[in-house]
Amino acid sequence: MRKGKKLGFLLASIFTILLLVGLALFMTAIFEGDKPHIRLEPLPQYISSPKTFKLEIGDKGRGLKSLLVTIEQGGRERKILEKRFPFKGLLNMDGLREHRIEFTVDPELLNLGQGRADLKVVVRDYSRRNGGDGNLAVLEHKLVVDTIPPAIRPLSRLNYINVGGTGLLVYVASSDTVKSGVYAGELFFPGFKAGPKYPEDNHVCYFTIPLNLKRGYQLFLWAGDRAGNSSKVGFYYKIRRKRFRTERINITDAFLSRVLPYFSDYLQGINGSDIEKFLWINRNLRKRNTQTFRELGQKSSAQQLWEGRWLRLKNSATMAHFGDRRLYYYKGRKVDEQVHLGVDLASLAHSKVPAANTGKVIFSGPLGIYGITVVLDHGQGLSSVYSHLSEALVQIGQMVKKGEIIGITGQTGLAGGDHLHFGVMVHGIFVNPVEWWDLHWIKDNVTRKLKLLSSGVTSERLR
Ligand SMILES: [Zn+2]
Repeated sequence: MRKGKKLGFLLASIFTILLLVGLALFMTAIFEGDKPHIRLEPLPQYISSPKTFKLEIGDKGRGLKSLLVTIEQGGRERKILEKRFPFKGLLNMDGLREHRIEFTVDPELLNLGQGRADLKVVVRDYSRRNGGDGNLAVLEHKLVVDTIPPAIRPLSRLNYINVGGTGLLVYVASSDTVKSGVYAGELFFPGFKAGPKYPEDNHVCYFTIPLNLKRGYQLFLWAGDRAGNSSKVGFYYKIRRKRFRTERINITDAFLSRVLPYFSDYLQGINGSDIEKFLWINRNLRKRNTQTFRELGQKSSAQQLWEGRWLRLKNSATMAHFGDRRLYYYKGRKVDEQVHLGVDLASLAHSKVPAANTGKVIFSGPLGIYGITVVLDHGQGLSSVYSHLSEALVQIGQMVKKGEIIGITGQTGLAGGDHLHFGVMVHGIFVNPVEWWDLHWIKDNVTRKLKLLSSGVTSERLR
């Protein structure tokens, strides 16, 4: 009897323990503390137009109960999205564990003003925690609503541009502008703040119409802000077509055997006859060098470093012009065609080369077909190029004054004899240097326009 009582007590105890364990497990399950997770993409700093977001929410525990997406601005909350997910099956076993949804924030539709706004995603699950409200997960993302595009206005009314020459547009851009400039077809030329002498919002932009620009292009002024808003306005311009000459160049075997050894490093792995090697240099290496110049042109200082008329090599004769169409002949047969994008100046052999204007050395050394080359940056996208030198006398990073000797003429690279190949670039694209040697042209096309700047028009007047 005693034994039976003992056994009964033991069984009752085990039963109670099992019941308690079961109850504990049940309670842990329904009172689970696993928070739902939220993933939102993208997380932009600014919003300028209707933007679609991808939202991913989930809950590993008892499943998702509700979702609320709002945006708050100035104490006012706007509802964007609200959802309640059904309770399904025992303990919500068949309830929702993962949910993906897209929603759009349309600043206009939501009647949002300019400035700070808080995007908020609130998700709850079916846990019995928090007085039955469930576990709470919140994602908050602060952004700035900016739907107003920058204001821009050209200041120069008459803009004459020679094909292949330099154009200058002076304009006002509102303070929210982060990037602005001139488009010539698909080519973009960035503008710069005019400088410390002028009001903050005054800008200058040097640009060109390259000789090979596809017909049907248009010129316009463009500005963008940090939020992605942009403005585009036309301006008055007149393009002057120019006739360029055609020059016939005969390639002789004597020239090839003199010039090719200079390129031995570049020609490694290039097989073929001397004329084939020459054609590789004249086409492929030239293209690669054009790319290098384009990259150098992006390194321009924001300040104007040059002043006045640009210097031309003293006592020199012009041997070839900008824009010359060069037809290359070998043994009476036309083998190639290229455009000459500088001016060839010949003086006495080993003449001293002066800096055309004040600037900073951004390249000094051998540069493919151009031989030993110096490139000077004159600021705001303008630079000058000195090629086929026998010697460069300056180093990258050095500042040079107008007239300072930067090198000695020679015939390194693809040169027929001792001369200086002089080039001027606008954002790394070659332009006709002749304009920059002409004080009248500078006065009419640059100085006169820069004078419009000091009038002090501000963007406040624009708005
Ligand atoms: Zn040349």
